[in-house]
Amino acid sequence: MPRSFLPYGRQAIDDSDIDAVVDVLRGDWLTTGPAVDAFDTAFAAAVGAEHAVSCSNGTTALHLALAALGVGEGDSCIVPAITFMATANAARYCGAEAVFADVDAETGLMTPDTLAEALERADGPVRAVLPVHLAGQCEDLEGMARQATSAGAVLVEDACHAVGTVFRGAPVGSCAWSAAATFSFHPVKTIAAGEGGAVTTDDAEVAARLRRLRSHGIERDPSRHRRRAGEPWWHEMQALGWNYRLSDIQAALALSQLKRLPEFVARRRTLAQAYDRVFVDMAPLVQPLARTPDCEPCLHLYPVRIDFERAGISRAGVMTALRERGIGTQVHYIPVPDQPYYRDRYGAACLPGAGHYYARTLSLPLFVGMDDEDPLRVAAALGEALGL
Ligand SMILES: *Cc1c(COP(=O)(O)O)cnc(C)c1O
Repeated sequence: MPRSFLPYGRQAIDDSDIDAVVDVLRGDWLTTGPAVDAFDTAFAAAVGAEHAVSCSNGTTALHLALAALGVGEGDSCIVPAITFMATANAARYCGAEAVFADVDAETGLMTPDTLAEALERADGPVRAVLPVHLAGQCEDLEGMARQATSAGAVLVEDACHAVGTVFRGAPVGSCAWSAAATFSFHPVKTIAAGEGGAVTTDDAEVAARLRRLRSHGIERDPSRHRRRAGEPWWHEMQALGWNYRLSDIQAALALSQLKRLPEFVARRRTLAQAYDRVFVDMAPLVQPLARTPDCEPCLHLYPVRIDFERAGISRAGVMTALRERGIGTQVHYIPVPDQPYYRDRYGAACLPGAGHYYARTLSLPLFVGMDDEDPLRVAAALGEALGL
Protein backbone atom coordinates (compact mmCIF):
# COMPACT_ATOMS: atom_id res chain seq x y z
CA MET A 1 0.00 0.00 0.00
CA PRO A 2 1.44 3.42 -0.86
CA ARG A 3 2.23 5.45 2.22
CA SER A 4 -0.24 8.23 2.84
CA PHE A 5 0.75 11.88 3.04
CA LEU A 6 2.41 12.88 6.31
CA PRO A 7 0.88 16.19 7.47
CA TYR A 8 2.70 18.40 10.00
CA GLY A 9 0.09 17.48 12.59
CA ARG A 10 -3.14 15.54 12.97
CA GLN A 11 -5.48 14.09 15.55
CA ALA A 12 -5.27 10.55 16.98
CA ILE A 13 -8.79 9.12 17.25
CA ASP A 14 -9.43 5.53 18.38
CA ASP A 15 -12.52 3.43 19.14
CA SER A 16 -12.67 4.64 22.74
CA ASP A 17 -13.01 8.23 21.47
CA ILE A 18 -15.71 7.22 18.98
CA ASP A 19 -17.65 5.26 21.62
CA ALA A 20 -17.54 8.24 24.01
CA VAL A 21 -19.07 10.54 21.40
CA VAL A 22 -21.70 7.99 20.39
CA ASP A 23 -22.74 7.61 24.04
CA VAL A 24 -23.49 11.32 24.21
CA LEU A 25 -25.43 11.20 20.93
CA ARG A 26 -27.62 8.44 22.41
CA GLY A 27 -28.15 10.35 25.65
CA ASP A 28 -30.26 13.33 26.74
CA TRP A 29 -27.77 16.17 26.58
CA LEU A 30 -26.02 17.42 23.46
CA THR A 31 -24.98 20.62 25.23
CA THR A 32 -25.03 22.14 28.78
CA GLY A 33 -25.04 18.58 30.11
CA PRO A 34 -22.95 16.39 32.39
CA ALA A 35 -20.13 15.69 29.89
CA VAL A 36 -19.05 19.33 30.10
CA ASP A 37 -18.82 19.28 33.90
CA ALA A 38 -17.05 15.91 33.79
CA PHE A 39 -14.47 17.27 31.39
CA ASP A 40 -13.93 20.48 33.38
CA THR A 41 -13.34 18.48 36.56
CA ALA A 42 -11.00 16.00 34.85
CA PHE A 43 -9.02 18.68 33.03
CA ALA A 44 -8.44 20.69 36.20
CA ALA A 45 -7.19 17.52 37.91
CA ALA A 46 -4.97 16.57 34.95
CA VAL A 47 -3.09 19.88 34.96
CA GLY A 48 -3.22 20.41 38.72
CA ALA A 49 -5.40 23.53 38.72
CA GLU A 50 -8.20 24.34 41.17
CA HIS A 51 -10.63 25.14 38.34
CA ALA A 52 -10.99 24.52 34.62
CA VAL A 53 -13.69 26.18 32.53
CA SER A 54 -14.08 24.69 29.07
CA CYS A 55 -15.20 26.79 26.12
CA SER A 56 -15.69 26.70 22.37
CA ASN A 57 -12.04 27.06 21.27
CA GLY A 58 -8.63 28.40 22.26
CA THR A 59 -9.42 31.85 20.94
CA THR A 60 -12.52 32.21 23.11
CA ALA A 61 -10.46 30.83 26.02
CA LEU A 62 -8.07 33.76 25.62
CA HIS A 63 -10.92 36.25 25.28
CA LEU A 64 -12.72 34.84 28.35
CA ALA A 65 -9.52 34.85 30.43
CA LEU A 66 -8.72 38.48 29.67
CA ALA A 67 -12.34 39.57 30.15
CA ALA A 68 -12.62 37.69 33.47
CA LEU A 69 -9.41 39.35 34.67
CA GLY A 70 -10.80 42.79 33.92
CA VAL A 71 -8.81 43.71 30.79
CA GLY A 72 -10.64 46.52 29.01
CA GLU A 73 -10.55 49.72 27.01
CA GLY A 74 -7.35 51.73 27.48
CA ASP A 75 -5.33 48.78 28.81
CA SER A 76 -2.30 47.22 27.15
CA CYS A 77 -1.43 43.52 26.93
CA ILE A 78 2.08 42.27 26.19
CA VAL A 79 2.08 39.55 23.53
CA PRO A 80 5.13 37.92 21.90
CA ALA A 81 5.51 38.68 18.19
CA ILE A 82 5.81 34.97 17.33
CA THR A 83 2.46 33.37 18.11
CA PHE A 84 -0.84 32.53 16.52
CA MET A 85 -2.68 35.81 15.93
CA ALA A 86 -5.47 34.89 18.37
CA THR A 87 -3.22 35.79 21.33
CA ALA A 88 -3.11 39.43 20.24
CA ASN A 89 -6.67 39.47 18.94
CA ALA A 90 -7.98 38.55 22.39
CA ALA A 91 -6.61 41.83 23.74
CA ARG A 92 -8.33 43.70 20.90
CA TYR A 93 -11.68 41.93 21.59
CA CYS A 94 -11.51 43.47 25.08
CA GLY A 95 -10.79 46.92 23.66
CA ALA A 96 -7.17 46.75 24.85
CA GLU A 97 -4.05 47.27 22.75
CA ALA A 98 -1.49 44.56 22.01
CA VAL A 99 2.13 45.53 22.66
CA PHE A 100 4.40 43.09 20.84
CA ALA A 101 7.44 41.78 22.67
CA ASP A 102 10.43 40.47 20.76
CA VAL A 103 11.43 36.80 21.10
CA ASP A 104 14.67 34.91 21.47
CA ALA A 105 15.79 34.07 17.92
CA GLU A 106 16.77 30.50 18.89
CA THR A 107 13.69 29.48 20.93
CA GLY A 108 10.98 31.75 19.51
CA LEU A 109 9.96 32.57 23.10
CA MET A 110 9.48 35.87 24.88
CA THR A 111 12.22 36.17 27.52
CA PRO A 112 12.56 38.23 30.71
CA ASP A 113 14.69 40.69 28.70
CA THR A 114 12.31 41.09 25.77
CA LEU A 115 9.42 41.37 28.24
CA ALA A 116 11.24 44.13 30.14
CA GLU A 117 11.81 46.01 26.88
CA ALA A 118 8.14 45.71 25.89
CA LEU A 119 6.96 46.86 29.35
CA GLU A 120 9.19 49.90 28.92
CA ARG A 121 7.77 50.63 25.46
CA ALA A 122 4.07 50.25 26.41
CA ASP A 123 2.23 53.48 26.99
CA GLY A 124 -0.83 53.21 29.16
CA PRO A 125 -1.32 50.69 31.96
CA VAL A 126 -0.26 47.12 31.17
CA ARG A 127 -2.98 44.86 32.52
CA ALA A 128 -1.83 41.45 31.27
CA VAL A 129 1.32 39.72 30.08
CA LEU A 130 0.73 36.70 27.83
CA PRO A 131 3.69 34.35 27.46
CA VAL A 132 3.09 31.85 24.65
CA HIS A 133 4.48 28.34 25.14
CA LEU A 134 5.54 28.02 21.51
CA ALA A 135 5.71 24.42 20.27
CA GLY A 136 5.19 23.25 23.89
CA GLN A 137 8.27 24.91 25.41
CA CYS A 138 8.23 27.58 28.08
CA GLU A 139 10.46 30.31 29.46
CA ASP A 140 11.08 31.39 33.05
CA LEU A 141 7.46 31.69 34.21
CA GLU A 142 8.46 32.55 37.76
CA GLY A 143 10.64 35.46 36.62
CA MET A 144 8.05 36.74 34.18
CA ALA A 145 5.35 36.56 36.88
CA ARG A 146 7.55 38.75 39.10
CA GLN A 147 8.03 41.25 36.28
CA ALA A 148 4.31 41.28 35.50
CA THR A 149 3.39 41.81 39.16
CA SER A 150 5.77 44.71 39.59
CA ALA A 151 4.27 46.31 36.46
CA GLY A 152 0.77 45.92 38.00
CA ALA A 153 -0.19 43.24 35.47
CA VAL A 154 -1.34 39.62 35.65
CA LEU A 155 0.33 36.71 33.86
CA VAL A 156 -1.97 34.78 31.48
CA GLU A 157 -0.32 31.79 29.81
CA ASP A 158 -1.27 31.02 26.23
CA ALA A 159 -0.71 27.30 26.74
CA CYS A 160 -2.51 26.20 23.57
CA HIS A 161 0.65 24.27 22.55
CA ALA A 162 1.64 23.04 25.97
CA VAL A 163 -0.76 20.55 27.52
CA GLY A 164 1.55 17.90 29.00
CA THR A 165 4.50 20.28 29.49
CA VAL A 166 6.00 20.61 32.98
CA PHE A 167 7.93 23.66 34.26
CA ARG A 168 9.92 23.28 37.51
CA GLY A 169 7.82 20.28 38.50
CA ALA A 170 4.49 22.06 37.94
CA PRO A 171 2.32 21.02 34.98
CA VAL A 172 1.54 23.89 32.61
CA GLY A 173 -2.04 24.84 33.45
CA SER A 174 -1.56 24.48 37.20
CA CYS A 175 -1.20 28.28 37.30
CA ALA A 176 1.63 28.02 39.84
CA TRP A 177 2.86 31.45 38.66
CA SER A 178 -0.04 32.80 36.59
CA ALA A 179 -3.59 34.09 37.02
CA ALA A 180 -4.87 31.82 34.26
CA ALA A 181 -3.76 29.52 31.46
CA THR A 182 -5.58 28.90 28.18
CA PHE A 183 -5.75 25.76 26.04
CA SER A 184 -7.00 24.76 22.58
CA PHE A 185 -8.40 21.39 21.51
CA HIS A 186 -8.21 22.01 17.77
CA PRO A 187 -7.36 18.77 15.89
CA VAL A 188 -3.69 19.67 15.33
CA LYS A 189 -3.19 20.33 19.06
CA THR A 190 -2.25 17.57 21.50
CA ILE A 191 -5.86 16.84 22.58
CA ALA A 192 -8.60 17.09 19.94
CA ALA A 193 -12.24 17.98 20.53
CA GLY A 194 -13.01 19.06 16.94
CA GLU A 195 -13.11 22.61 18.24
CA GLY A 196 -12.65 23.32 21.92
CA GLY A 197 -10.73 25.18 24.56
CA ALA A 198 -10.37 25.73 28.30
CA VAL A 199 -9.15 28.24 30.84
CA THR A 200 -7.59 27.06 34.09
CA THR A 201 -7.21 29.16 37.23
CA ASP A 202 -6.69 28.72 40.96
CA ASP A 203 -8.98 31.65 41.79
CA ALA A 204 -12.60 30.71 42.55
CA GLU A 205 -13.91 34.21 41.75
CA VAL A 206 -12.17 34.23 38.36
CA ALA A 207 -13.59 30.75 37.66
CA ALA A 208 -17.11 31.96 38.51
CA ARG A 209 -16.69 34.92 36.16
CA LEU A 210 -15.38 32.62 33.40
CA ARG A 211 -18.44 30.35 33.77
CA ARG A 212 -20.79 33.34 33.63
CA LEU A 213 -19.10 34.94 30.63
CA ARG A 214 -19.02 31.75 28.55
CA SER A 215 -22.82 31.64 28.68
CA HIS A 216 -24.16 35.17 28.07
CA GLY A 217 -23.15 36.50 31.48
CA ILE A 218 -25.88 34.43 33.14
CA GLU A 219 -25.24 33.49 36.78
CA ARG A 220 -26.71 30.04 37.43
CA ASP A 221 -25.67 29.62 41.05
CA PRO A 222 -28.62 30.88 43.21
CA SER A 223 -26.24 31.69 46.07
CA ARG A 224 -24.58 34.24 43.78
CA HIS A 225 -27.83 35.88 42.64
CA ARG A 226 -28.38 39.52 43.61
CA ARG A 227 -32.12 39.04 43.97
CA ARG A 228 -33.35 36.11 46.07
CA ALA A 229 -36.57 35.54 44.18
CA GLY A 230 -37.56 32.06 45.27
CA GLU A 231 -38.90 31.68 41.72
CA PRO A 232 -37.87 28.42 40.04
CA TRP A 233 -37.29 30.05 36.65
CA TRP A 234 -35.15 32.86 38.03
CA HIS A 235 -31.73 33.45 36.47
CA GLU A 236 -29.63 36.57 36.30
CA MET A 237 -27.57 38.12 33.55
CA GLN A 238 -24.98 39.98 35.61
CA ALA A 239 -22.53 40.90 32.86
CA LEU A 240 -22.40 41.02 29.08
CA GLY A 241 -21.14 37.58 28.06
CA TRP A 242 -21.18 35.40 24.97
CA ASN A 243 -22.16 31.94 23.86
CA TYR A 244 -18.66 30.41 24.07
CA ARG A 245 -19.75 27.01 25.40
CA LEU A 246 -18.28 23.62 24.57
CA SER A 247 -21.01 21.12 23.61
CA ASP A 248 -21.36 17.75 25.34
CA ILE A 249 -20.41 16.06 22.05
CA GLN A 250 -17.09 17.90 22.04
CA ALA A 251 -16.61 17.52 25.79
CA ALA A 252 -17.03 13.74 25.52
CA LEU A 253 -14.34 13.59 22.84
CA ALA A 254 -12.07 15.90 24.85
CA LEU A 255 -12.53 13.78 28.00
CA SER A 256 -11.79 10.56 26.14
CA GLN A 257 -8.67 12.16 24.63
CA LEU A 258 -7.62 13.46 28.04
CA LYS A 259 -7.60 9.87 29.35
CA ARG A 260 -5.07 9.12 26.61
CA LEU A 261 -2.87 12.15 27.43
CA PRO A 262 -0.13 10.12 29.18
CA GLU A 263 0.12 7.93 26.05
CA PHE A 264 0.19 11.05 23.82
CA VAL A 265 2.92 12.73 25.91
CA ALA A 266 5.10 9.61 25.86
CA ARG A 267 4.69 9.15 22.11
CA ARG A 268 5.47 12.81 21.33
CA ARG A 269 8.58 12.66 23.53
CA THR A 270 9.79 9.49 21.79
CA LEU A 271 9.29 10.96 18.32
CA ALA A 272 10.92 14.28 19.28
CA GLN A 273 13.94 12.41 20.69
CA ALA A 274 14.28 10.47 17.43
CA TYR A 275 14.36 13.79 15.54
CA ASP A 276 16.81 15.29 18.07
CA ARG A 277 19.23 12.40 17.55
CA VAL A 278 19.27 12.55 13.77
CA PHE A 279 19.66 16.35 13.68
CA VAL A 280 22.86 16.18 15.73
CA ASP A 281 24.59 15.20 12.49
CA MET A 282 22.92 17.92 10.40
CA ALA A 283 24.14 20.94 12.40
CA PRO A 284 24.70 23.75 11.72
CA LEU A 285 22.55 23.67 8.58
CA VAL A 286 19.60 22.18 10.47
CA GLN A 287 19.11 22.50 14.22
CA PRO A 288 16.19 21.66 16.47
CA LEU A 289 14.62 24.47 18.46
CA ALA A 290 16.98 25.56 21.25
CA ARG A 291 15.76 24.12 24.56
CA THR A 292 15.02 26.18 27.66
CA PRO A 293 16.10 25.34 31.23
CA ASP A 294 13.70 23.84 33.80
CA CYS A 295 11.15 22.91 31.14
CA GLU A 296 10.18 19.32 30.30
CA PRO A 297 8.23 19.94 27.13
CA CYS A 298 5.55 17.85 25.53
CA LEU A 299 6.17 19.21 22.06
CA HIS A 300 3.09 20.08 20.04
CA LEU A 301 5.22 21.10 17.03
CA TYR A 302 8.69 20.12 15.92
CA PRO A 303 10.15 23.32 14.43
CA VAL A 304 13.73 23.28 13.17
CA ARG A 305 16.04 26.21 12.47
CA ILE A 306 17.39 25.99 8.93
CA ASP A 307 20.16 28.10 7.39
CA PHE A 308 18.47 28.43 3.99
CA GLU A 309 21.04 30.94 2.76
CA ARG A 310 23.92 28.57 3.37
CA ALA A 311 22.00 25.70 1.76
CA GLY A 312 21.30 27.88 -1.26
CA ILE A 313 17.60 27.04 -1.42
CA SER A 314 14.55 29.02 -0.31
CA ARG A 315 12.11 27.83 2.32
CA ALA A 316 9.37 27.66 -0.32
CA GLY A 317 11.67 25.42 -2.38
CA VAL A 318 12.24 23.09 0.58
CA MET A 319 8.52 22.94 1.40
CA THR A 320 7.71 22.04 -2.20
CA ALA A 321 10.45 19.39 -2.38
CA LEU A 322 9.17 17.80 0.85
CA ARG A 323 5.58 17.95 -0.31
CA GLU A 324 6.58 16.06 -3.46
CA ARG A 325 7.97 13.36 -1.15
CA GLY A 326 4.67 13.19 0.74
CA ILE A 327 5.79 15.29 3.71
CA GLY A 328 3.80 18.29 4.94
CA THR A 329 5.48 21.20 6.72
CA GLN A 330 4.29 24.56 8.03
CA VAL A 331 5.68 27.86 9.27
CA HIS A 332 4.84 28.86 12.86
CA TYR A 333 4.47 31.81 12.62
CA ILE A 334 4.57 34.92 10.46
CA PRO A 335 5.31 37.61 13.09
CA VAL A 336 1.90 38.91 14.15
CA PRO A 337 2.91 42.62 14.06
CA ASP A 338 3.61 42.12 10.33
CA GLN A 339 -0.01 41.22 9.64
CA PRO A 340 -1.70 44.08 7.75
CA TYR A 341 -4.27 44.68 10.49
CA TYR A 342 -1.58 45.23 13.13
CA ARG A 343 0.77 47.06 10.78
CA ASP A 344 -2.04 49.51 9.96
CA ARG A 345 -2.80 49.93 13.66
CA TYR A 346 0.69 50.18 15.17
CA GLY A 347 3.07 50.78 12.25
CA ALA A 348 6.11 48.69 11.35
CA ALA A 349 7.69 46.93 14.34
CA CYS A 350 11.41 46.59 14.89
CA LEU A 351 11.75 43.16 16.52
CA PRO A 352 14.98 41.59 15.25
CA GLY A 353 14.72 38.36 17.28
CA ALA A 354 11.29 37.61 15.79
CA GLY A 355 12.56 38.44 12.31
CA HIS A 356 15.55 36.15 12.66
CA TYR A 357 13.45 33.33 14.13
CA TYR A 358 10.83 33.63 11.39
CA ALA A 359 13.42 33.61 8.58
CA ARG A 360 14.74 30.17 9.58
CA THR A 361 11.84 28.23 11.07
CA LEU A 362 10.05 25.24 9.55
CA SER A 363 7.77 22.85 11.44
CA LEU A 364 8.20 19.16 10.56
CA PRO A 365 5.54 16.48 11.06
CA LEU A 366 4.92 15.55 14.69
CA PHE A 367 1.83 13.62 15.73
CA VAL A 368 0.95 10.55 17.76
CA GLY A 369 0.13 8.32 14.78
CA MET A 370 3.57 8.65 13.15
CA ASP A 371 5.62 5.49 12.70
CA ASP A 372 8.90 4.98 14.55
CA GLU A 373 10.89 5.40 11.34
CA ASP A 374 9.06 8.54 10.16
CA PRO A 375 11.42 11.05 11.87
CA LEU A 376 14.40 9.44 10.09
CA ARG A 377 12.57 9.45 6.78
CA VAL A 378 11.60 13.13 7.18
CA ALA A 379 15.13 14.12 8.18
CA ALA A 380 16.60 12.24 5.21
CA ALA A 381 14.20 13.96 2.81
CA LEU A 382 15.02 17.33 4.37
CA GLY A 383 18.75 16.65 4.04
CA GLU A 384 18.28 15.77 0.39
CA ALA A 385 16.24 18.92 -0.27
CA LEU A 386 19.00 20.98 1.32
CA GLY A 387 21.69 19.24 -0.74
CA LEU A 388 23.35 17.61 2.29
C1 LIG B 1 -4.38 27.24 18.26
C2 LIG B 1 -3.93 28.43 19.02
C3 LIG B 1 -4.82 29.38 19.52
C4 LIG B 1 -6.28 29.38 19.19
O1 LIG B 1 -6.91 28.19 19.37
P1 LIG B 1 -8.23 27.82 18.53
O2 LIG B 1 -8.76 26.65 19.25
O3 LIG B 1 -7.77 27.49 17.14
O4 LIG B 1 -9.12 29.00 18.56
C5 LIG B 1 -4.32 30.40 20.31
N1 LIG B 1 -3.02 30.51 20.57
C6 LIG B 1 -2.11 29.64 20.09
C7 LIG B 1 -0.68 29.80 20.42
C8 LIG B 1 -2.55 28.58 19.28
O5 LIG B 1 -1.66 27.73 18.75
